[in-house]
Amino acid sequence: MPSIRRFKIGRIEITSLLDGDLDSSLDRIPDPADRAAAIHLIEAAGGEKALTMDCNAFLLHLPDGPALIDAGTGTMMTDRLGHLHERLAETGVAPQDIRTIYLTHVHKDHFGGLVDEQGRAMFPNAELVLHEVEAAFWFDTPPEKLPERARATLPLNAKAFGPYEGRIRRVKEGGGAPGIAARLAPGHTPGHTAWIVETGEEPIVAWGDVVHLAALHLARPETAMIYDLDPVTAARTRRAMLQWAAESGAVVAASHLDAPGLGHIEHDNDHYRFLPLAPA
Ligand SMILES: [Zn+2]
Repeated sequence: MPSIRRFKIGRIEITSLLDGDLDSSLDRIPDPADRAAAIHLIEAAGGEKALTMDCNAFLLHLPDGPALIDAGTGTMMTDRLGHLHERLAETGVAPQDIRTIYLTHVHKDHFGGLVDEQGRAMFPNAELVLHEVEAAFWFDTPPEKLPERARATLPLNAKAFGPYEGRIRRVKEGGGAPGIAARLAPGHTPGHTAWIVETGEEPIVAWGDVVHLAALHLARPETAMIYDLDPVTAARTRRAMLQWAAESGAVVAASHLDAPGLGHIEHDNDHYRFLPLAPA
């Protein structure tokens, strides 16, 4: 599959940039009953390969210039990842042309590509935009008040966000820029955000990590995985977002669904299906 895929939704062009992939495993599901159900779902979906997650970021061609949704992993994870900058080069857009980077949340598989290995900003002219709830959690909470798992990532956060000091914009619910708005989708992190992009037709919803494993979460949205800081809230958000996407006809731009990660959600009895957009 080509690693960059460009689509036109209404008046908006969106290009999927595959950063790479990573393996998940069933032991990321803490509840034994959930895990037992997951074994069957994963087997039915092809076994091992259903436990691999793509990492997609998205390039939006907006009226005020090119923008990114998330920034890939950079050098912060395995060498199967970190290819966003090669993908971006294939589109012909230079890093210095990126005006805005809308972040779905503050996890290294979404912000790692903001900097190179030495910690230099990869996007010298970009402003970072994130929901004020997410920013407050990661940047304002005294470290000792953070859950341990969140506290452990603070050095990486500092490395990625430090070079952008003074050009990090926090937005309220519904904020962003003309045509793109933040919508809180909490649970994975407290301020985890779906970015809603107006297209003149159906909206695009760049929903970050609402779904981790399609085989599990479309069939059983309530399945908790350790990736979510608040699994109960994450499950509620997942079901609500899936339902809203199915009813609204929105085009989902998903971080961890199979590349290019763009498609519609269909509701069928008690489960959901992801229908990838047809190649342009
Ligand atoms: Zn993620």
